[in-house]
Amino acid sequence: QITDNAIIVMLGASGDLAKKLLYPALFTLFRRDLLPKQIHIVGYARSKIDHDDFITQVSSDLKDPGDDPSFSEQLEKFKTILSYVSGSYDDGSAFDELNRYLEKIESNYSTPEHNRVFYLALPSNVFVQIAKHLKKRVYSNRGANRLVLEKPLGSDLESAQELVKGVSQFWPEEQTFRIDHYLGKEIVKNILALRFANSFTSGFWDNNHISNVQITLNESFGTEGRGGYFDSAGIIRDVIQNHLCQMLSILTMERPTSLTPKETINEKLGVKLLRAIRPVQREDVLLGQYEGYLDDSGGVPFILKAGKALDENRVEIRVQFKDNPEGLYDDDEQLCRSELIMRLKPGEAILIKLNIKSPGFDTGVIPAELKLDYKEAFPDVFIPEAYEVLLRDVLRGDHSTFVRDDELIAAWKIFTPILHWAEGKDGNKKPSPIKYAFGSRGPEGLDKFLAKFGSKD
Ligand code: NAP
Repeated sequence: QITDNAIIVMLGASGDLAKKLLYPALFTLFRRDLLPKQIHIVGYARSKIDHDDFITQVSSDLKDPGDDPSFSEQLEKFKTILSYVSGSYDDGSAFDELNRYLEKIESNYSTPEHNRVFYLALPSNVFVQIAKHLKKRVYSNRGANRLVLEKPLGSDLESAQELVKGVSQFWPEEQTFRIDHYLGKEIVKNILALRFANSFTSGFWDNNHISNVQITLNESFGTEGRGGYFDSAGIIRDVIQNHLCQMLSILTMERPTSLTPKETINEKLGVKLLRAIRPVQREDVLLGQYEGYLDDSGGVPFILKAGKALDENRVEIRVQFKDNPEGLYDDDEQLCRSELIMRLKPGEAILIKLNIKSPGFDTGVIPAELKLDYKEAFPDVFIPEAYEVLLRDVLRGDHSTFVRDDELIAAWKIFTPILHWAEGKDGNKKPSPIKYAFGSRGPEGLDKFLAKFGSKD
């Protein structure tokens, strides 16, 4: 249930994330009438920006999709719910000022309840101090309060524990929403339906049938001006510990008893699976760009691959089934691996690769593909972007697309030892990654490395 009214305070409103993703997502929700009836969005940051300049800044990224005749009219209406307050993050009186500003807006609300959402689109080193000021000085005593934390949520196990502990002194878990925007993506949200609404998938979802699962996030571009950030973060922090690990978690969770957010979260975040994974070992890693790991011998290997400056833009989950028993077909070795592919990019799609009889008089088999292309199959359906889903879920108080505290910690436990090894922080010499050419398939030895875990093209 969406609240009747809300003020969304966008802290870090002067930044790139707010301008490029968050305001555009809020505008889409506004145009589609998916925000509370009474809504204000108050930007907050240190930069001194006057009202008109701020509106111009935000509007420049609100692009007309071309399919909405009322776009300009809606944009003018949207501008009237935007404002900007400048203030520091460490000065309590600046937050008192912010609180007075919000109260003034709320004094015009028709309902007695006053709900506030605080979105921290900021570097995480200021989260704890801001969380404290917000709780002590800007908290609404007359409605729901929600604190949204952008990623990155810590840089290793220790910093994540500090962050969780620091924020939780002021904000309880049920009011805290930790972002991993992959949880808002359509194909990721579809994993549960694909697994639990089809007996044929639930029936083969085990190590008797599945050879390996590959979760891939390949980007054809490089760091593009974010070299400094990327140098200190690296691919494991950037996408593996969070996005790829979240997909792994949904792919492997047990069937929930119901699909209420609480049950789903408990099952996924019962964190049984994540806790059961041993930290990534050195022999499980191909350092350079790719990284993978095994849960334990005898289980299904999950290969998590991610890299930049590769030959493709591809984000997908590939479930590879075991090879067929041989001997029935003359050209047994031609049989393809059956696969279920959930593709996020390029173009959302669900694909099944399988062998079929070669059409015509021929009795041999050939590989074929069944494809559900979302654009073709659902041309008129509005499929929201990830941030649109997440912002709406915050307003509805639905935690199922957010990262719970224990889950975050469990994910960091898996990756911290290997991060420290890769960064030379474990007392050993820092290992050198295998170099590869910009725009290539990745480091040499990749296929051999993947084959070790059962992968076959
Ligand atoms: P940003 O532009 O560098 O920073 C956002 C705002 O935070 C800035 O406008 C600045 O506002 C304030 N700020 C920057 N550094 C600060 C510091 N050391 N202490 C206090 N305030 C500081 O970053 P962003 O791209 O908007 O991203 C915000 C956060 O979300 C970052 O942690 C980023 O890693 C993460 N993120 C970004 C993206 C993206 O696509 N951009 C995607 C996912 C996650 P004032 O100086 O005006 O106060």
